Amino acid sequence: ELDLTPPAPAKGCNVYVRLRPESVDEIAQGGELAASVQPSQRDIHVQMREPGCIEPKLVQHRFTMDRVFDMNTTQEDFFGSTAASLVQPIVEGFSASVLAYGQTGAGKTYTMIGAHGAEETARDQAKAAKDPVTRGLIPRLIERLFKTLRKFDSSARFSVRCSFIEIYNEHVRDLLTPVKANLKIREAPDKGLIVTNATEVPIADTEESIGVIKQGTANRMQAETSRNQHSSRSHAVFVLTLRRENLDDCSFRVSQVYLVDLAGSEKLSKTEVQSQERLRESTTINQSLLALGNVISALTKQQHHNNSHTSHARGTTAHTHPAAMPHVPYRDSKLTRLLQNSFGGRSYCTVILCCSPHSHNARETIATLRFGDRAN
Ligand code: ADP
Ligand code: MG
Repeated sequence: ELDLTPPAPAKGCNVYVRLRPESVDEIAQGGELAASVQPSQRDIHVQMREPGCIEPKLVQHRFTMDRVFDMNTTQEDFFGSTAASLVQPIVEGFSASVLAYGQTGAGKTYTMIGAHGAEETARDQAKAAKDPVTRGLIPRLIERLFKTLRKFDSSARFSVRCSFIEIYNEHVRDLLTPVKANLKIREAPDKGLIVTNATEVPIADTEESIGVIKQGTANRMQAETSRNQHSSRSHAVFVLTLRRENLDDCSFRVSQVYLVDLAGSEKLSKTEVQSQERLRESTTINQSLLALGNVISALTKQQHHNNSHTSHARGTTAHTHPAAMPHVPYRDSKLTRLLQNSFGGRSYCTVILCCSPHSHNARETIATLRFGDRAN
């Protein structure tokens, strides 16, 4: 039986960590495991060698998140413990966003789309979304959504549409119609923010959504050949729009779900920044990820502010002047403008921090966890 009371988001943002298994390359490089999930399943420790006065010393960095998943976590378990709980609120008209953050190679595409996601060909990526064991969060969320919709009685009618876009160097490109390479983000009177002209495909089941993922990833990979490793330098945004029409009173609700495979968060070394183009890419990526961090952190503060405000009203503290609501700087990047609809108030925000467990990547892993810390 479906519970029809809309649950309100309890938290500004849920932050999860997922460690991937060590890669063949990492094992070949030597080194050791540097990250460990603590028995609480909320704490993660990462060791890093840092310069000391006499010799380098091993420093342990500790973080606490909503949940930390170790390298043996299956796609099914990961989905079940994270995004599965979003389905009910989405059906009730809430919006949501799920963002995969981390350095290139940390498991973002694997988590969002599925295994083979990183492999060279678009055909492999399509296979990845389809494979029932290794497919990722997006196809699983859609499958669960349709399962839930089918259980509904005839009092409501639903329609689901999706689009798939990419933000690269602050340009928004339609991954379903690649000739549309510079889409504008505009506000629409009752839809909130929309990407004007982005292709929207109606979908009736999971298979159809997999077709859309396949088409979008194929177009994304095509740019890969012309620009080296393009996909790790762009944000891929899969947008689901659910419209629910109540047949008794003809009222309707629209919820939007933004599922984002973010650009790699790694800092480039000087030797890696060989050209103007690389420099520009890396600068815009840093700026948009920084803007994202700022927005999420402001939302988290806002939520804390609201929570403490509620307790003031109940008279549990003596403070009489609540601090001003923190400003949320959505306009600082295309990415945050686009996600604005799925943030704040009636929306659920989920950040997945994808991390390598290996000592060679410890610095980036710690940087990723620090990003999540601001959101928590
Ligand atoms: P990113 O998208 O962050 O650059 P990928 O998702 O492409 O990283 O992952 C890099 C490699 O690691 C891929 O070969 C992928 O299949 C593998 N991988 C990532 N996460 C896992 C995991 N949880 N279990 C098994 N393999 C994984
Ligand atoms: Mg990727």
